[in-house]
Amino acid sequence: MLNTFRLEGRVALVTGASRGLGQAMAVALAEAGADIVGLFRTRDGSETCAQVEAQGRRFLPLAVDLLTASAQDLRAAVAHVAREMGRLDILVNNAGEIRRAPALEFSEADWDAVMQVNLKALFFLSQAAGEVMKAQGKGKIINIASMLSFQGGILVPSYTASKSAVAGLTRALANEWAALGINVNAIAPGYMATDNTIALRNDPARYRSILERIPAQRWGTPDDLKGIAVFLASDASDYMHGAIVPVDGGWLAR
Ligand code: NAP
Repeated sequence: MLNTFRLEGRVALVTGASRGLGQAMAVALAEAGADIVGLFRTRDGSETCAQVEAQGRRFLPLAVDLLTASAQDLRAAVAHVAREMGRLDILVNNAGEIRRAPALEFSEADWDAVMQVNLKALFFLSQAAGEVMKAQGKGKIINIASMLSFQGGILVPSYTASKSAVAGLTRALANEWAALGINVNAIAPGYMATDNTIALRNDPARYRSILERIPAQRWGTPDDLKGIAVFLASDASDYMHGAIVPVDGGWLAR
């Protein structure tokens, strides 16, 4: 049955593939056999490219700023992918923004930026990819949610709002698209050591209090998402629709 996890001949578009969790998931999908389109904003994607090509897979970089891209831009980006790669089987909506400030001082700019990247771009990329997947009769969409899809968080009101909405949207799209052969699910990572959590990890009190609450007794790493990403991208998860899967060292079970 391990063959049902294999991704040879599939094409995956991974947003935020230049570093952190997106990079690890892109490389994992390549290790399982997929060719990868890596979308990122400004950073150089060459590190991810080298790791994907080392698996003998093709890597296509796509520079798109999700903060400014319109729905039409995202449709054009997906059309470009389908043209260049011949198909699109897997979309990993991973790119994300976080802005920290107390709710009483939170700016409109920080609200809009986070909602645009984490939610609006995710929806319109899914819509464009869903069209291609519908025509193919099969597809996998994996959204990256958060512990703050379940909890309130501290000093991150727009992030919590966006990630809670990602969980709702995952269920809404699953309801509409399951019948089309498209699986829409989400991964909810716990506290992972990436650029996204530098502020927390640089605050010794927050770092310690978070660590003490994690049953697994360690922060997560990008590699911790590799197994679940391949599973949700593969035929092994064909009957899963609308699930929000925590990968959190037991944080939510606490
Ligand atoms: P990260 O290391 O900060 O990486 C963020 C990625 O998103 C980068 O590849 C970045 O591209 C891309 N990105 C950000 N804004 C973008 C934009 N406007 N347009 C295009 N790409 C953009 O973050 P991470 O920790 O890997 O987080 C990945 C996802 O997991 C996010 O959705 C985050 O909210 C979520 N998450 C993280 C944690 C955690 O503990 N780290 C926990 C739960 C959920 P550039 O390199 O070009 O800037």
